[in-house]
Amino acid sequence: MTHQLLIYNTLTRNKEVFKPLIPGRVGMYVCGPTVYGDPHLGHARPAITFDILFRYLRHLGYKVRYVRNITDVGHLEHDADEGEDKIEKKARLEQLEPMEIAEYYTLRYHHAMEALNVLPPSIEPHATGHIIEQIQLVKEILNNGFAYESNGSVYFDVERYNQKYHYGKLSGRNLEDVINHSRDLAGTEEKHNQVDFALWKKAQPQHIMRWPSPWSDGFPGWHCECTAMGRKYLGAHFDIHGGGMDLIFPHHECEIAQAVASQGSEMVHYWMHNNMITINGQKMGKSLGNFITLEQFFTGQHPQLTQAYSPMTIRFFILQAHYRSTVDFSNEALQASRRGMERLFDAIRQLDHIQAQADGKITEAYAQEVEQKCYEAMDDDLNTPIVISHLFDACHTVNQLVNHQLTITPQGLQALTQIFHTFVFDLLGMKAEESGSNQREQAYSQAIDLLLDIRSQAKSNKDWATSDKIRDALTQIGFEVKDTKDGATWKLNR
Ligand code: ZN
Repeated sequence: MTHQLLIYNTLTRNKEVFKPLIPGRVGMYVCGPTVYGDPHLGHARPAITFDILFRYLRHLGYKVRYVRNITDVGHLEHDADEGEDKIEKKARLEQLEPMEIAEYYTLRYHHAMEALNVLPPSIEPHATGHIIEQIQLVKEILNNGFAYESNGSVYFDVERYNQKYHYGKLSGRNLEDVINHSRDLAGTEEKHNQVDFALWKKAQPQHIMRWPSPWSDGFPGWHCECTAMGRKYLGAHFDIHGGGMDLIFPHHECEIAQAVASQGSEMVHYWMHNNMITINGQKMGKSLGNFITLEQFFTGQHPQLTQAYSPMTIRFFILQAHYRSTVDFSNEALQASRRGMERLFDAIRQLDHIQAQADGKITEAYAQEVEQKCYEAMDDDLNTPIVISHLFDACHTVNQLVNHQLTITPQGLQALTQIFHTFVFDLLGMKAEESGSNQREQAYSQAIDLLLDIRSQAKSNKDWATSDKIRDALTQIGFEVKDTKDGATWKLNR
């Protein structure tokens, strides 16, 4: 089957047929983490979204060079452009070298990504390892007249740029909107205009992370690194640039301006952005008390979590929404996801035990139909929730085969097994979680779920005696069972 992969391009606001600049090869760049804190859900979503794209492009036969950076300098506290460097601040508070902070949290990030079965990128460049390239970029922008030096710092001249090009094309703004929405900050009198952004910052005397440059001992502005490193590893023009929607403005808008101001043309062909995550309908934030790290999800150690959720539960939950939709995390939704994921894994296990029959009713044609529907969904801007729903339909068929309500030919069985493996393991990137405590944890969760299923059946049969008996017994053991509109949830009171 031939594939026509459609991807939504944020720049044109259209789904477009993906066509790489060089046939058979794809260059993609995704903004990676700023490494000054533990990885959380906000890190999981872009990593998983672009992992799906990476896996699928490779599956379609492309040679993909995937660059995902590590921001270890230059990301300042306010609008990324003012205030203290996030990593340096953390280092000061913990009395460590900034590089100790960056190293520690980079390792934590890698560990979490591995648990989520996110494939490592082809290249993972660090901003601090590319200061020379960033200085070169700033020089080019200055030479072309789109930046100015002020007191040892260099700023991008947004107004000047906007006279010739459109600043705001990615986020759909014009310069007046940006000016009206930019905050007045103290200490920014170095800038000619509030909307200008830093390309190079002169370091204050107490600032540790600093490098010599033609303008001052200082450090690059945050937006420089992605433009400089994208160009270094993927060339002056490359296919895909991705990240979370929160990066569209100002980060990616500034990246476009830097690319055009330095080389006269845009660098990126397709801009892709994943939507954001909410928790119980609220934005995630430290001040809201709902800031949950991935480790806290994996261990269940957070007041808002009623239990631990395995990395694959988190991954599956994220994939059950389209990457351009919001995702709302709640205990109920995660528990439902875990059950859904187990349904898929059960079906895959059961396929090994089904006896095929030469005159089976289900043939290869059925498997091909499932396969085609799944590919159509993937080709439609990576519509993973639709892929999953087709796989769930196939699970229903597997159950009927197990219960001898249907029969299948040997070729049909082989093809169906292959489809489950391709989509569940290779493309959705799920893996069975069977090691040690995880397995025990899962078996224990499944047993409680089973009891609650029996209880819900009893309730619908008005068999109150059984329903109460299960609830009372669980309460006595120490479980708290709560009935919600989506079914019962439980937690173990510690
Ligand atoms: Zn970036």
